[in-house]
Amino acid sequence: MSSSVDGTNIGVTIAPTIKRLDEAVVNRIAAGEIIHRPANALKELIENSLDAGSTSIQVSIKDGGLKLLQIQDNGHGIRIGDLAIVCERFTTSKLRTFDDLSTMSTYGFRGEALASVSHIAHVTITTKTKDSNCAYKASYSDGAIIPAKPGGAAEPKPCAGNNGTQISAEDLFYNVPTRRKALKNVTEEYNRILDVVNRYAIHNEGVSFTCRKVGSNTPDVHTTTSATVVDNIRHIYGSSVANELLSLEKSYPVYPLKIKGWISNANYSVKKFVMLLFINHRSVESPAIRKAIEAVYATYLPKNTHPWVYLSLEMDPRNVDVNVHPTKREVHFMNEEEVITTICEAIQDRLGDANVSRNFLTQSLLPQMSAKSRTDDGSKKPASKVYEYNQVRTDSRAQTLDSFLVSASPYTISNSSSHKRVKVTADPSDSAYGVQEMDVDSDGEQSDRDDLVDDDENTEGKGTPGSLLNKIGQFKRDPLMKSSENGGSQRHGRSSPNISGSQKKGSRTNHSGLRVKAPRVEVKLTSVIQLREEVKKQGHPILTPIFANHTFVGILDNQRGLIQNELALYLVNYEAISEELFYQICLRDFSNFGFIRLSNPVSIKDMVQMALDDEQELMEKDEWPEELTSKDEIAQTVANTLVARKEMLKEYFSVCVTDDGKLTSIPLMVKGYVPNLEKLADFLWRLGSEIDWTSEKACFRTLARELAIFYSTQPERVEDPFGDSHGEESQDEDDSAMDHDKKTPQEIQDAQFQHMISSLIFPAFKKHFIPPKALIEKSGMVVQVAQVKDLYKVFERC
Ligand code: ADP
Ligand code: MG
Repeated sequence: MSSSVDGTNIGVTIAPTIKRLDEAVVNRIAAGEIIHRPANALKELIENSLDAGSTSIQVSIKDGGLKLLQIQDNGHGIRIGDLAIVCERFTTSKLRTFDDLSTMSTYGFRGEALASVSHIAHVTITTKTKDSNCAYKASYSDGAIIPAKPGGAAEPKPCAGNNGTQISAEDLFYNVPTRRKALKNVTEEYNRILDVVNRYAIHNEGVSFTCRKVGSNTPDVHTTTSATVVDNIRHIYGSSVANELLSLEKSYPVYPLKIKGWISNANYSVKKFVMLLFINHRSVESPAIRKAIEAVYATYLPKNTHPWVYLSLEMDPRNVDVNVHPTKREVHFMNEEEVITTICEAIQDRLGDANVSRNFLTQSLLPQMSAKSRTDDGSKKPASKVYEYNQVRTDSRAQTLDSFLVSASPYTISNSSSHKRVKVTADPSDSAYGVQEMDVDSDGEQSDRDDLVDDDENTEGKGTPGSLLNKIGQFKRDPLMKSSENGGSQRHGRSSPNISGSQKKGSRTNHSGLRVKAPRVEVKLTSVIQLREEVKKQGHPILTPIFANHTFVGILDNQRGLIQNELALYLVNYEAISEELFYQICLRDFSNFGFIRLSNPVSIKDMVQMALDDEQELMEKDEWPEELTSKDEIAQTVANTLVARKEMLKEYFSVCVTDDGKLTSIPLMVKGYVPNLEKLADFLWRLGSEIDWTSEKACFRTLARELAIFYSTQPERVEDPFGDSHGEESQDEDDSAMDHDKKTPQEIQDAQFQHMISSLIFPAFKKHFIPPKALIEKSGMVVQVAQVKDLYKVFERC
């Protein structure tokens, strides 16, 4: 590397001399930090005018404030003696000692605003105090008073004028070219100025504000001294907002805190959140408050729409830190979190009270803030307290809506026994349809079945097949067809002996209840621990407590149910979400499942063949495509695969497979819950095709997933047992349809299914479920439908 003659060669480090910056430059930099754009300067000037007790403030603007920013007020004015130093840094009539800094309740208190403006613009002040005979005019540059004309004296000149002060800032940023260049769009700057004027106009009832462009006769904003806050809102933001406003006024002596404002109700929403926030009468930003208020409204407004909020907070100035931001725009304050919670609660209460007439809105979920309750005097109440009138039903042990709908449930699920009957369907070619049952137990010692309700199979025996079990019945090789006691036939393929015959009914079985608790196996497998961690990590932060603390309200249909949390009612797609529930149970209870024993072992190979038959049907092929491995071969492979892994399947998942390829048990995941066995064949086929056996973690993950798909809730289908071929007999159906008391088999089936969901699945959701973000983000999984107290009011009126 070559050195140049003057020694400023590249690569050789020479310590640069440190120079003291020119004071004017320092001040200019400081000014630039305070005044970013014309609107910042105007805000400071308006605050000064208000501090001076003005009732009239007139703003004139040229070129977005860059050419001219002028403000005229009728306040107390500046004494002539002060005019010489008014633009110096740290000169203020409002602050004397450091202690004052924290107790100042006037707007400005650092004495920096005027000085800053004078460093980046040509400032002229004309002012007249009440007791002065005339007005005085002075010009300023870089914080100092300067002669109005070159060569003149640097002192205020007497002139004519009204009481009050006029301050003009011309050629803003004339000496900061980079900033000047950045502010090219004068329209945008003007709009920002209007925004500042609008905010202060609304906040200052009794003060008349005018803002106009120089040369324009009609002002863009003009409010009068007699106008109310709402008048001003109407004037500036229009009637559509003004007509939908709720007033807010509350005091909390403990902080102390005073909240005042006007907020839009639930009928009003806009694309962009408009928030006018004042703390101690200064327009400020608080992202934290903004976010929290948005969250409160999210439960009321349609998705992606926002409220209009004007909020004035008064608190002890000592608790407010305005100096976090040079422009004093963004503030922080003491007890921020608690104060925000209090504010949100006040808004929430107001919205709730006013909600009687609101339009019904459905929206995707964005749950409300879980507000800590605070009484008006600020004393704390228990955090989760929901006012009684807000609740439809507060005790989860109380009856649920759907318990009124199911008069006699065929299921008796008690804590002491996991017995349950599962109805499966019989062959459609049979003339009558028996109900088959299966013993469902957890592993262990003997239990009796006294708590098993004796089904009236004559009324409920019209079950019909779902496709896979249907196929079981259709299996030509089926030698195990049995007749039921009621004259119907119970059929099950030899491959599905899990469906035990009626010989089991009422007998005492060797299966156990859950009374003896085996010690829990502690799982140390890293793969499982990691998978569990993933579940936790992917949990939705807001929905998790909603599920954990919900009160079950009722079942809507075979996919959806209603839950309540705090004041909100949510529609939950339990069918879809239950898959996730079972996936999590698979991981949580890994190695610790009970067993659902199949009374008669099922041939895996036969089941898989049935599933393949289904596949073939889906492919709309009469024959299994020749180019594919034969069904028999596939089925055998799947069976072999599972037999080869039987130890693992049993130990970890309670899936028991015999050496000759029969399935004898599946895991008991939720006491009393048996998956829809119509899905069993598919499950076994997928165990062969979908499991990644190559790595431990992938294997457990995919296995848990397949079990979850199998166990996810799905009602059994009840089709017209006579199908199309019996279309002529529809007359009978018509007759029965006229008999209103008689429920169709489908209705009975659905009622049983839904009862099972409400008594088993929703409690399971409550227990350990962590709703994953990804799933919930899909639309329709969890939808907040209403605020409970609105519904309550509807009921009240009935
Ligand atoms: P601060 O407002 O923090 O005191 P400023 O630089 O904004 O500092 O103003 C300096 C001083 O100028 C104020 O303290 C006040 O005495 C005086 N002043 C500024 N504007 C006005 C006005 N419009 N009417 C009366 N006095 C004013
Ligand atoms: Mg000021």
